[in-house]
Amino acid sequence: MVRGNGSWLWDEAGNRYLDFLQGWAVNALGHCAPELVSALESQAAKLLTPSPAFHNMPQLQLAATLCQLTGLDQAVFCNSGAEANEVALKLARKFGAERLGGAHHVVATHGGFHGRTLATMALSGKPAFHALFHPLMPGFAHVPFGDARAVAQALTDDTVAVMVEPIQGEAGVVVPPAGYLRELRQITRKAGKLLILDEVQTGIGRTGHLFAFQAEDVLPDILTLGKGLGAGFPLSATLVTKDANCLAPGDHGGTYGGSPLACAAGLAVTQTVTAPGFMDSVRERGAYLRERLVEVGAPVGATVRGQGLLWALVLPRPIASAVATSCFGKGLLVNAAQPTVLRFAPSLRVSQEEIDAMATLLRQALQELRE
Ligand SMILES: *Cc1c(COP(=O)(O)O)cnc(C)c1O
Repeated sequence: MVRGNGSWLWDEAGNRYLDFLQGWAVNALGHCAPELVSALESQAAKLLTPSPAFHNMPQLQLAATLCQLTGLDQAVFCNSGAEANEVALKLARKFGAERLGGAHHVVATHGGFHGRTLATMALSGKPAFHALFHPLMPGFAHVPFGDARAVAQALTDDTVAVMVEPIQGEAGVVVPPAGYLRELRQITRKAGKLLILDEVQTGIGRTGHLFAFQAEDVLPDILTLGKGLGAGFPLSATLVTKDANCLAPGDHGGTYGGSPLACAAGLAVTQTVTAPGFMDSVRERGAYLRERLVEVGAPVGATVRGQGLLWALVLPRPIASAVATSCFGKGLLVNAAQPTVLRFAPSLRVSQEEIDAMATLLRQALQELRE
């Protein structure tokens, strides 16, 4: 690929692709969004990296913005979702060591995805991950996603935290029953455990809310963000409440974490998605995308699930890869998240015309595979 603009990508041969994947829900504002490009250009000319030993203005401004938008109190910046989740795990372990008599187990969910470092692979609920790179990092238990009672039953004296995605992205846009996060909040509060939400994929407007947890009116103790936060520039964050925070300077750090350049990108993104009307338009376009997917899917017996601008088409047969390959040949990028699941995560600015164009190409691909 050599060039991108909004919902479109071009390869070196000049072929154009309609991008309904956006780097796995990364480019929240589409490819090369003008606000993002100009924020990066002007920050690049001012200061790239003063050294992680100093604070810098974009970092302080972004920390203040994210705390204000989420209701949490403090932030650490990193470069990837996995790293932000590592910080969440470090925080939980230190919390357990200092306040829960050494408890360090984290209860997570089957199918959950939290990254590809050693700890986050063990934390993820993917058996294929657990078979690799032994020995497996200890301290993780997994329960079915969407089942709050299973979480309650899995808690022991060794448990320090419960960690879930509000909607499982990699697993194929799996939406839990309404009230799930609220129940997890009640269970963890009552048991004195931390609730950690991984919003690396669902955060920054993707689900039609600025953050998915806000739809259920709960506040996690720890929140991780990535992907859409930098919207194409590497940036992630771990946020924590005052009550849960026990990290001291030096407990986590990195050469590039919180660089002015990355945080300038984050500021441009947060300014854009919080502008009046932006989230209304995400919800409208999301509803329109849902309608079109229902329409295209119905003749082949496919069903639709998701929220905001994160959707899955669930196929009655394991042909998702074949459909995605066929779409690619037609100039449409979609993702086979599972053998029977196609995932759609377009730019939050995708237009109705682009959604219609996607539906036309997807319909053709589904029809051809039916014949
Ligand atoms: C993508 C993703 C991650 C990992 O982020 P990286 O930036 O690839 O390390 C973690 N959690 C969730 C929910 C994700 O979707």
